[in-house]
Amino acid sequence: MSDLGKDLREELESRFTLRSSGLSAELTDPDGTVKLLIELRDGQRIEAVLLSDGEGRGTACLSSQAGCPAGCVFCKTGSLGFSRNLSSGEIIEQFFYLNSRSAVSNIVIMGMGEPLLNLEELRRALGILFDPRGLGISPRRVTVSTSGIVEGIRDLADKGPPVRLALSLTSAREELRNRLMPIGRENPLPLLKEALLYYQKKTGRRVTLEAVLLGGLNTGKEEAAAMAAFASGLGLIVNLIPWNPVEGLVFEGRPLREPSPAELRNFTAELEGRGLKLSLRYRKGRAIAGACGQLGQIRRQPAPRTGCQGL
Ligand code: SAH
Ligand code: SF4
Repeated sequence: MSDLGKDLREELESRFTLRSSGLSAELTDPDGTVKLLIELRDGQRIEAVLLSDGEGRGTACLSSQAGCPAGCVFCKTGSLGFSRNLSSGEIIEQFFYLNSRSAVSNIVIMGMGEPLLNLEELRRALGILFDPRGLGISPRRVTVSTSGIVEGIRDLADKGPPVRLALSLTSAREELRNRLMPIGRENPLPLLKEALLYYQKKTGRRVTLEAVLLGGLNTGKEEAAAMAAFASGLGLIVNLIPWNPVEGLVFEGRPLREPSPAELRNFTAELEGRGLKLSLRYRKGRAIAGACGQLGQIRRQPAPRTGCQGL
């Protein structure tokens, strides 16, 4: 900004950071999904994804942490371990990078990391996105997905913002869930259900359950019955996500696999037969390892290094 005096420029530079991250690669899936590899100031790498609706608008999928401490066995990010929380600025910069590719209409906090373990910085970032002096985005257009942190759900219910909330349930059989999602041991299902009821009551927002479907593991009748029991009284939608392959992930010595078409069909029928409303998440971004649970796989294609153009 050469129209500002030199002293003021120096003063601004010493007090503020305009860009804290750099774009190190950009990958585009034939289905239109764009994945950005972003390098943070300290060399940590995160990813952000833009899912396009084909009509020039998109959903931004943002990361909240570098790596993830939750350690879900089916997730690439979980297999990386935890590096650190992202700052509010680092969360917002992802939005700006994506928004410069195509207009973002919705935001999902479903990238790398567990958002409710970084709630203060996430809250600051969302505050700026929602503020009319900031981006003026409506909280209705934002979904936060959590592996199920009881305290975080209650904190979000009490102090806001009133975003849409999605719980990654994956299994409602506690013993299996805890083997798949070790964070469940500290956040038992009965307490999670109470926290979801509390969230719905406080915010008036229906929550969503997400279930990653793993072939041979969580698509049977018992699972459907347990899921329906967990969902009863909550009045919600269950979002089924067939597992997106991640090379090298094994569960108790056996490789994970996608559900077969028959497993998917039968499980869907079992859930519908129990009165549950379902949606199926389309596997966008698989060709660039940009679909749910695949973030953190290194598949690079060179791109020029630029700053954060939106800031
Ligand atoms: N940490 C948060 C948000 C990021 S993960 C959470 O777990 O909810 C976003 C979604 O991707 C979650 O519902 C998670 O269960 C799902 N997921 C993780 N690994 C996956 C995989 N390999 N295939 C499909 N979905 C996956
Ligand atoms: Fe973390 Fe979510 Fe992956 Fe689990 S599924 S390891 S909580 S990013």
